[in-house]
Amino acid sequence: MTKIPLLDLSAQNGELEGELTTAFQRVLRSRCYIMGPELEAFEKDVARECGVAHGLGVSSGTDAILLALMALGIGQGDEVLVPAFTFFATAGCVSRIGATPVWVDVEAHTFNMSLSDAGRKVSERTRAIIPVHLFGQAMDMDAVLDFARRHGLRVVEDCAQSLGARWRGRPVGSFGDFGAYSFFPSKNLGGFGDAGLLASNDAALAERARVLRVHGMAPKYFHKFVGGNFRMDPLQAALLGVKLPHLAAYNARRGANAAFYRRALGRVAGVADNAPGGAPGDAVVLLPVDFSGGGIWNQFTLRVRGAGRREALRAHLGGCGIGCEVYYPLSLDRQECFAGVGRGGGSVVVAHELADEVLSIPVFPDLDEEQLGGVVAAIVDWLGSLGR
Ligand SMILES: *Cc1c(COP(=O)(O)O)cnc(C)c1O
Repeated sequence: MTKIPLLDLSAQNGELEGELTTAFQRVLRSRCYIMGPELEAFEKDVARECGVAHGLGVSSGTDAILLALMALGIGQGDEVLVPAFTFFATAGCVSRIGATPVWVDVEAHTFNMSLSDAGRKVSERTRAIIPVHLFGQAMDMDAVLDFARRHGLRVVEDCAQSLGARWRGRPVGSFGDFGAYSFFPSKNLGGFGDAGLLASNDAALAERARVLRVHGMAPKYFHKFVGGNFRMDPLQAALLGVKLPHLAAYNARRGANAAFYRRALGRVAGVADNAPGGAPGDAVVLLPVDFSGGGIWNQFTLRVRGAGRREALRAHLGGCGIGCEVYYPLSLDRQECFAGVGRGGGSVVVAHELADEVLSIPVFPDLDEEQLGGVVAAIVDWLGSLGR
């Protein structure tokens, strides 16, 4: 039995070792280790990829969100709409700047924020909304922009898991006031440490963020605002610049892997699409669907229905040497650090349900058909053992 990890970047990074080494030496010999031309070149290239006029390399995806909220002047007394089912950073940033996260439920079929629930929760104190394109699934950005316009809200798109994803042919992250991306190794453009990107089409907002990125300093040692150190290293920029031209190919291979799973598992009894309006009552495993047609499959996330069954499948796959993970086991409104924080937590029933049902299986670009087949066989095997 060969092991199939949830994520293995050894082939992806190994193929580029020569070019990466050259890039490292170039930075080493440049003696420029903070800001400078390597960073600027990468920012330009990646901004083009994201369909925005301005791209700022930053220290992480988390800091990209934080910087966006700071540049928008959001803080004490303000509320920000966030999905209750996402990675912690989306809401952590809201809390860190002294604003109040408002917990919005998600849609069971897209895993993304429900705008009808957002409509129930918006108040006169609400200043912004953070749509998250979770697992690489693009949100309906026409609907988000329409919602934001009607309620006078700023929009910060959390694109940490969706670099390259499109809504109606246009890159996510280019619709809102800001788009925040991450180059954490497990994201679709995985770096060699922490890094992120803040994207915007608004020149004035981008300039404000640019100043906040270096302690609110402009010119040197004169501080306009209280900012922070949110810079991306030129070394990271140089290395990411080697991988960026391959992003489309990486995403295409993830898409092919997802299609393989959907084809192979779609025919199995007990499996159905995670469709809007619910699946047949006897379906145990629900397959994710790319509803926008422009998603990039950062994760391939199953829903496993029935008490205790998600944990059972997780244990079964683990026993077969197949990596899998629960993104995420506890919705944000229920996190210890948010006890008594935020608003709207009681009503996010879908978020609570998904936390008990989701299971992500390997979908990284370098999986081969034998490995994909191995994952499918293990799931089929487990379904068979249920004695249905
Ligand atoms: C990874 C991630 C972040 C944070 O990115 P980092 O680079 O790890 O700080 C934010 N939001 C979501 C949805 C993420 O998946």
